[in-house]
Amino acid sequence: MEEEHYTMAELLAMEDEMKIREAELAEQRRLEEKEKQKREKELAKQAALEEKERLANIFEDKTLKCKKCEKDFIWSASEQKFYKEKGFFRPSICKECRAGMKTINNFHK
Ligand SMILES: [Zn+2]
Repeated sequence: MEEEHYTMAELLAMEDEMKIREAELAEQRRLEEKEKQKREKELAKQAALEEKERLANIFEDKTLKCKKCEKDFIWSASEQKFYKEKGFFRPSICKECRAGMKTINNFHK
């Protein structure tokens, strides 16, 4: 088997070539990693948004205090959904007081 002989200049040139290629590959890997992290970040952001949206559409019965009679009353999940759809604020008085106010209003008409 015949040995290959390179001059020193050729060997150095080859070494340089290899170093350049390694650097290029490293740069490419770095860019790919950066891109991957960016995608993962976007996916995480998307998932967080979806979770927020999901939670925003889940209602649980809440106990509120009536400002008029100061009794606790239940603000039901279905009422909360209705209020949100209508863009209403949370009720500050209970149903009984509201019904009472309506009666008084009607009475004065
Ligand atoms: Zn009340």
